[in-house]
Amino acid sequence: MSEPQTMSVSATISPATTAGLVEKTPLERYQPPAKPSLVGLSRAQLTEALASIGVPASQRKMRVQQIWHWLYVRGARRFDAMTSISKDLRATLDQHFTLARPEVVAEQISADGTRKWLLRLPGEQSLERPHEIECVYIPEADRGTLCLSSQVGCTLACSFCHTGTQRLVRNLAPGEIVGQIMVARDRLDDWLAAAQRGTEIPAASTAVGAGGNGGQRVISNIVMMGMGEPLYNFEAVRDALLIAADGDGIAISKRRITLSTSGVVPNIARAGAEIGCMLAVSLHAVHDELRNELVPLNRKYPIKELLDTCRNYPGLSNARRITFEYVMLKGVNDSLGDAKALVKLLKGIPAKINLIPFNPWPGTKYECSDWERIERFSEIIFNAGYASPVRTPRGRDILAACGQLKSASEKLSARERLALRAMAMTD
Ligand code: SAH
Ligand code: SF4
Repeated sequence: MSEPQTMSVSATISPATTAGLVEKTPLERYQPPAKPSLVGLSRAQLTEALASIGVPASQRKMRVQQIWHWLYVRGARRFDAMTSISKDLRATLDQHFTLARPEVVAEQISADGTRKWLLRLPGEQSLERPHEIECVYIPEADRGTLCLSSQVGCTLACSFCHTGTQRLVRNLAPGEIVGQIMVARDRLDDWLAAAQRGTEIPAASTAVGAGGNGGQRVISNIVMMGMGEPLYNFEAVRDALLIAADGDGIAISKRRITLSTSGVVPNIARAGAEIGCMLAVSLHAVHDELRNELVPLNRKYPIKELLDTCRNYPGLSNARRITFEYVMLKGVNDSLGDAKALVKLLKGIPAKINLIPFNPWPGTKYECSDWERIERFSEIIFNAGYASPVRTPRGRDILAACGQLKSASEKLSARERLALRAMAMTD
C-alpha cells in the first residue's frame, strides 16, 4: 500500500485566532482507530455496547442517558470527562471504546467566515488507504449551516457535478455522519459548556455564537448537501439525522435539517416517514429530455413521478415547503420559457425554489448563466409568488462553494475532487 499523501493540521491551531488558510503539514502515517467509537450509536446500540462490557441490566438505561448527555450535549472527547459516571466504569469504557470523531486533516477559514474541514476516515479494509471527505460550515446573520456528506463519492453521474465524475468509494457509517457535526462543534467551540461560560464567538464566524448571542448555537441548521446521494445510504443517514435531532442531545430541530436528493423516488416517502426532515429536490430541468442528460437518474424516476411523490411528502404546508434546487447553466436550462415552465410544473406543491449559480470545475462543458439572466429568471419566479433567493456562493477563496471543494490529497485531487454543496438553504 502506498503511503497516504494527505496532510495534517496541528490540533493546537485555535479556530478563534486563525484567519485565512491554515498551514498544512504532512502526516507521518495514518493510524486507523483501534477501538470502536461510541459516536453515532443509537440508544439501543449503546445499550448493547454497555451490556457487552458487563454493565448490569438495571443500570443500562441510566448509563445510556448519561453517556448521551456527555457526548451530545457537552461534547466529551474522553471518558475521563464524564464525571457523573463512576471511575471504574469510565476505565472499563476506555478499555473497550473511544469517543473518536473523524480525524481533522485540515481546516480552512474563508474571509467570509465559511469554514471547511477535510476529514479522514478509515478505508474498508484494514490496509486500504484512508478516505477523505469534507464538511463545510456557513455562517449567516440569522443562522449557521453545516453541510454534511453522506458518501465518499457518488454512484450517480449528474453531468454538471464534479462528484459525479468519481467512482463511489463507500457509504458513510452513522458515526461518520454524526462525527462531522461533532468535529464542527469541537472546532467552533459550540458545546453547552461554551454556551454556559459565554465563550466568545470564533473570530471568523459572523453567525450566532454559543455564548454571546442569547444562547443560540453556532450550528443551527444542517443540510445533507455534501458529497453523495443521501437516499442511497438511507439507513445510515436516517440514524445519523435522528441522533442530530434528538432533543436530549445535539437537538437540531427536524425543521432545520434538510436532506437534498437527486430524486430517489422510493426513498423520498421513507425519508418523510422515518426521518421527518425537510426535503430539497435537485430538479434542474423542466422536461425529461434535458433532465435525463443532467440528472441521469431521471431515466428511472422521471419528473412526473418525482413530483407526484413530492406532493405526498408528509407535513407539507406553506410553512413547510419542499425546496427545489435549480442550477443555472448558461444556454442549457436558463431560458425565460424554462422559468415559466418551472412555475407551472410546481403548481400545487408548497415549494421554494433555489437558483444555484453553477460552480465550474476543470473539464466541465457547462458555464454559469450570466448574472442578468439569473436575475430575470428569478424575477419570473418571484412574480409567480415564490421567494427565489439566488444564493451567493460562499467560501470562494477556500473552494468551499458548490462543486468546488477539493481534497488536499495530491492523488485524490485529480480523480476525486470533492464537490460538496455549501448552500445554506433552510429557513
Ligand atoms: N446528491 C444530492 C445531494 C448533494 S448535491 C443531490 O444531488 O441533491 C447538492 C446540490 O448541489 C444538488 O442540487 C446538486 O445538483 C448541486 N450541485 C452539484 N454540482 C454543482 C455545481 N458544480 N454547481 C452548482 N450546484 C451543483
Ligand atoms: Fe451525486 Fe448529487 Fe452530484 Fe448527482 S448532484 S452526482 S446525485 S452528488
